[in-house]
Amino acid sequence: MVAEIICVGTELLLGQILNTNSQYLAQKLAELGIDLYFQTTVGDNMERLKMAIDIATKRSDILIFTGGLGPTSDDITKEAVADYFGLALVLDEDVLRRIEKFFERRQVKMPEINKKQAYVPKGAKVLHNKNGTAPGLIIEKDGKIAILLPGPPFEMQPMFEEGVLPYLEKFSKQKIYSRVLKFVGIGESSIEEALKDLILSQTDPTMALYAKPFEVELRITTKKESEECAKSLLQSMENRIRERLGEYIYGVDRQLLEEVVIGLLAEKKLKVSVAESCTGGLICNKLTNVPGASEVFDRGFIVYSNEAKMKLLGVPEQVLKEHGAVSSQTARYMAQGALSNSLADIALSVTGIAGPGGGSETKPVGLVYIGIATKDYSESFEFRFSGDRLRIKEMTSKAALNILRKKIIDY
Ligand code: AMP
Ligand code: MG
Repeated sequence: MVAEIICVGTELLLGQILNTNSQYLAQKLAELGIDLYFQTTVGDNMERLKMAIDIATKRSDILIFTGGLGPTSDDITKEAVADYFGLALVLDEDVLRRIEKFFERRQVKMPEINKKQAYVPKGAKVLHNKNGTAPGLIIEKDGKIAILLPGPPFEMQPMFEEGVLPYLEKFSKQKIYSRVLKFVGIGESSIEEALKDLILSQTDPTMALYAKPFEVELRITTKKESEECAKSLLQSMENRIRERLGEYIYGVDRQLLEEVVIGLLAEKKLKVSVAESCTGGLICNKLTNVPGASEVFDRGFIVYSNEAKMKLLGVPEQVLKEHGAVSSQTARYMAQGALSNSLADIALSVTGIAGPGGGSETKPVGLVYIGIATKDYSESFEFRFSGDRLRIKEMTSKAALNILRKKIIDY
């Protein structure tokens, strides 16, 4: 069975919103092991939508639509599909009651136009919408399957998980299993070099590298009928990779660097404080996004000006004058200051030039110093990043979290 995704919405064609539904659905189909050869995006236009359906039915078996199920007159996906397959739209009393209830719970009167959403193509299976009014639909006709889902991702995704996934499972024989190894502190090409023989000889599992700001992901993938078989294959490949590059692997799958750091701090019962200049709070934000951060995160200092660095962290005026705010010395003093002005066991600091202005020949945009201090130790590291302001901030935060991670491991 071959699937095709058809996203409906003029706003997608105008580039006003990012088509995250197609990414989500493509990932889910890949996990299911259902082939996807085409994705189509089409506007809210009856003629062109029907043209897209016509083309899709000729090359695919399962058509998954998102969008165009709303109550307004530009929402026409259901009408187009029903018309294409020659199905009448009939009022579904159960769906109507659910829509009425949806409004009752919010204590608003149901607008008359929402009644349109209670009409379903004859014979269609209805998927209830917990987070909105548009029901989803599964239509089987002439050997083809059309699955209609609402556009808003927070309505579409739970509906897919609950109603569509179990339905599609019977069409997938070999599921795709994958494991992502997350690397930090090593570049894509060095990883490739270290794993060249494994990557070149890959047939099953296959491996692919993705570079992200200051980290690289390696996805190991296999298609198998049994989960047990897939898991052991992935594990043995992971072990072989860890033997060579284990020190650079900070986590797996969806784990974030900050989650790993918080976990390590908790494990070792350590507290951290952070002094940030060029990242303006980004590192503290990341750390405090992790549940349980309050146990291990003491405080943050956002010290943008020289005055703040002196007043809050005790960086000597002389150091700032002699070496500048963006210097290895300042980074170290910042870390020491964050340590002595807080209850932390480890303090991290960053100072750098995020650009686009403020750079010079000797101190270019992207120059960053990261400091780290414990009771009897302090050190600072120099980095030269490139890219725009946000990218430099992002890279800096990751580099700093990685330095912190390594320090906690050695603590
Ligand atoms: P609709 O079902 O066409 O009324 O969609 C309503 C809203 O869902 C749109 O305004 C978007 O915010 C969102 N939406 C629709 N299609 C997509 C898509 N392919 N990816 C992400 N969001 C979408
Ligand atoms: Mg729409």
